[in-house]
Amino acid sequence: MPELSAAAPAKDPRAIAHYHAHVYYDPASSRGRAERLRERVGAEFPQARLGRWHDELVGPHPQSMYQIAFAAEMLEKFVPWLMLNRDGLTVLLHPETGDDYTDHSAHAAWFGAVLPLRLDVFKKKRPT
Ligand SMILES: [Zn+2]
Repeated sequence: MPELSAAAPAKDPRAIAHYHAHVYYDPASSRGRAERLRERVGAEFPQARLGRWHDELVGPHPQSMYQIAFAAEMLEKFVPWLMLNRDGLTVLLHPETGDDYTDHSAHAAWFGAVLPLRLDVFKKKRPT
């Protein structure tokens, strides 16, 4: 995982076009809460793009989830709202800079818990 070093120039947040919030749930026990949160997001933030339900595991995600994609301009209003309204659900917030591996690891923020993502799906190019 890349680390910040004194020699590296600071990265410019303007590289972030949009963000994803991934809302995790358990189909057996917390799908109802996930549905209520999804309805509230749709009502409060109609400009957010709600992704499909993934009861089956997909990509790097170790639990069932759906994705909320939103523009960088929405961050200031949406993230505090999500902090107060996630109803105990675990949420992964990550930027989209074009580097999936880093966006889901070093760049990521978690609400509620930190889940072990399967980052190998991104096939990070490593120097040989
Ligand atoms: Zn994502």
